Amino acid sequence: MIHDFNYLRATTVKETLNLIDKHKDDYKIICGGQSLLILMRQGLVAPEHLIDIKNVQELDYIQFDQRKGLKIGATTTHREIEKSALIKKHCNVLVGMEENLASVQTRNWGTIGGNLAHADPAGDPGPVFIAMNAAVKIANKERERTLLLDEFFSDYFETALEDNELLLEVQIPIIPPKTAIAYEKFNIIKNDQGIVSVAASITVDRDGLSCIDARIVLGAAAPIPMRAKKAEQMLVGKKLTDRMLDRVGERASEEADPVDDIHATEAYRRNLIKSLTKRMVKKAWSQAKALT
Ligand SMILES: Cc1cc2nc3c(=O)[nH]c(=O)nc-3n(C[C@H](O)[C@H](O)[C@H](O)COP(=O)(O)OP(=O)(O)OC[C@H]3O[C@@H](n4cnc5c(N)ncnc54)[C@H](O)[C@@H]3O)c2cc1C
Repeated sequence: MIHDFNYLRATTVKETLNLIDKHKDDYKIICGGQSLLILMRQGLVAPEHLIDIKNVQELDYIQFDQRKGLKIGATTTHREIEKSALIKKHCNVLVGMEENLASVQTRNWGTIGGNLAHADPAGDPGPVFIAMNAAVKIANKERERTLLLDEFFSDYFETALEDNELLLEVQIPIIPPKTAIAYEKFNIIKNDQGIVSVAASITVDRDGLSCIDARIVLGAAAPIPMRAKKAEQMLVGKKLTDRMLDRVGERASEEADPVDDIHATEAYRRNLIKSLTKRMVKKAWSQAKALT
């Protein structure tokens, strides 16, 4: 049963931040409600004030700048990202990620800001954004700040957002030359959340023979999307061989901290992490090599 609440609708960022400030003792932001309403229905969250930002249109945008890269406003829906020509041109990995995220109905209403702020360890955008070194812009009534997404997630369903802060946008820097990003999740039911997921970003040298930079991010493999940093280090300065791929997959699987639950055992998840890491590194490497 959902407890009674005071419903407040904002139409601008300024109005939202004022409402947050006024009701900071007991409020919740709602946007698409795709995650929050489940928690409210289960009685896990019962805010006195619900501040609806779905109509804050100034946060509904996708922009690209040659120097700064992509910016996605917090109230942008998953479906808008999936269908955006700018995203397709400059960050195609997000299209594939979104196509496999939930149903069209959920993608039509759920937003990128809501997804990140909800901080589900099995969320799809987190690992991909971290692989791309993305940041988030955050504000309260007094100030704005920018935080790398790598530092945004703090625990299961917990973020670095302070009690009075609103997530404004995701910032994705320009993807460096000869760099490709691959992402895949393993799920049992199509478009459901992943049992585990892996995002890999690989930068290769001009000839595509050696790895210059690597970022490997595991989803649903720990309380937060996590970098497999030891596995990444194994790749830098090296040539790709089957033996190397095996060792990188193994290392990522050792670094992970997966749970044992009704969806999969810990051992099964570790095996999946190994296979998916190998597959994503190989895929990103070959895509990066093919880039001119
Ligand atoms: C059936 C189903 C399947 C799903 N499958 C997947 C999946 O496969 N992969 C995946 O990644 N996700 C999945 N999801 C989750 C879905 O992507 C998210 O629920 C959605 O993106 C959340 O956005 P929202 O606007 O609905 O957020 P809301 O539910 O409105 O809010 C979620 C949380 O974020 C906070 N919040 C929202 N916006 C802001 C903001 N701008 N600043 C600060 N805090 C904010 C709210 O207070 C709340 O705590 C699924 C959801 C459903 C219902």
